[in-house]
Amino acid sequence: MADKIIIFDTTLRDGEQSPGYSMNTAEKMHLASQLERLKVDVLEAGFPSASQGDFEAVRMIAKKIRSIQVAGLARTSKEDIDAAWGAIKEAEYPRIHTFIATSDIHMKHKLKMDRDQVITATVDAVKYAKQFTDNVEFSAEDGSRSDRDFVCKVFDAAILAGATTINLPDTVGYAVPDEFADLVSYVMSHTPNIGRAILSVHCHNDLGLATANTLAGIHSGARQVEVTVNGIGERAGNTSLEEVVMALHARRNYLPYATTIDTKEIYPSSHLLAMITGIPVQPNKAIVGANAFAHEAGIHQDGVLKNKTTYEIMEPATIGLEANRLIMGKHSGRHAFRDRLKTLGYDLSKSDIDLLFQKFKELADKRKEIVDEDLEVLVAEEILRVPDTYKLKYLNVTSGTATVPTATVQMEIEGKEEQKAGFGIGPIDATFNTIAKMTGTQSKLLNFSIDSLTGGTDAQGSVTVQMEGGGVQTLGKGNDPDIIVASAKAFINGLNRLAHLKKNSFSRK
Ligand SMILES: [Zn+2]
Repeated sequence: MADKIIIFDTTLRDGEQSPGYSMNTAEKMHLASQLERLKVDVLEAGFPSASQGDFEAVRMIAKKIRSIQVAGLARTSKEDIDAAWGAIKEAEYPRIHTFIATSDIHMKHKLKMDRDQVITATVDAVKYAKQFTDNVEFSAEDGSRSDRDFVCKVFDAAILAGATTINLPDTVGYAVPDEFADLVSYVMSHTPNIGRAILSVHCHNDLGLATANTLAGIHSGARQVEVTVNGIGERAGNTSLEEVVMALHARRNYLPYATTIDTKEIYPSSHLLAMITGIPVQPNKAIVGANAFAHEAGIHQDGVLKNKTTYEIMEPATIGLEANRLIMGKHSGRHAFRDRLKTLGYDLSKSDIDLLFQKFKELADKRKEIVDEDLEVLVAEEILRVPDTYKLKYLNVTSGTATVPTATVQMEIEGKEEQKAGFGIGPIDATFNTIAKMTGTQSKLLNFSIDSLTGGTDAQGSVTVQMEGGGVQTLGKGNDPDIIVASAKAFINGLNRLAHLKKNSFSRK
């Protein structure tokens, strides 16, 4: 039987803490449920001591997820471990993940500790965590730039203190595959008690080598890999889950290792994450990019038509990418609607379905064909959104070559209806100016992008705005067949998120 590789997903921790990827609790819960369907072995839900908001999100995920392990991250202090345990203790399979840096550069400049102090902190932390659960992981931060013999010494101390998983991170994405394989082999052969623990690797993609280094680590004996969906994470990101899993899957003759991942859930997971964060996947991204299975060149198309395996090493269906998309319309019934949402990964309550079905009918009256992307927009707008401080009721915009662009906006602001008109350089500028005036908000628009959800001129326009207000940044998303309305929705969604963040202003460490 092939050796099993444990898939440790850190999308909600290492991924979520990178700029632009922050999610609210409802969004994290949806993603966590999807990761459970994907069948990752361990779901790192967050860093509970970072803020009260992070703690609560981890606690809610731990309560909800029943079939896989839920991990909480902690530094070596008692306070951190207490917070991690407090957040995950209701999980079916909780794991405490504690870490400390072991490289000279981190110990000297960041921790201001010497080697003996780091070993003492490691042993104390693992022993303390062990009082709560048997399932304790220890990480040596900046492991790849640490003195090899010292790393082995720390690992052995952690194992003797009770750690059952030992993680070797390439925190700064500095390693190259041969060197990393050699380091993992060295750790395997120079840590006396390594046989009592699982060795894990955690790579970053600063040189584009995260997947290669991770596979090299597996080759040398690592049996857990730490990965994220779409490879999101600090700076250039973490190792991408889909790349490692599909490399093992497509090349099983050469890489005889097994995972429990349900590969058909790979594309839905990638897609859900992009939907929630509003950050699209680059088109040429391996496995999940829009072009990953597209064949443009004539000679390739010809070959694929004659026999798919001429240019295709994997079938799109393996990752859950369906060629035959179901198209829905105004004659589609409630039952078909609910079934389709379920296929897309949204198992929603009856009241949520009722609300969505009504919105679906309204959209179907305007457009002939409704595709999956449209349904997901409905979910994003109606179910995943934050409570509304501001609501758009009515928008009328006049613009053209012979008129000053004017927007008339009617909004509900904290329950009260208001109406105002305003001008701008263009129709979107006029709309945003008027909304800002009405809401009395001062936010800075950092980025504005507009996309078409599907092909055709009757496709929905999808607008994403990145904005800043009161020292925090957020994204706003809006979709509508009318791009001006989509822009207004995105702007108001961003304002709602800023208002929500302000109300729940948890400071992050
Ligand atoms: Zn990391």
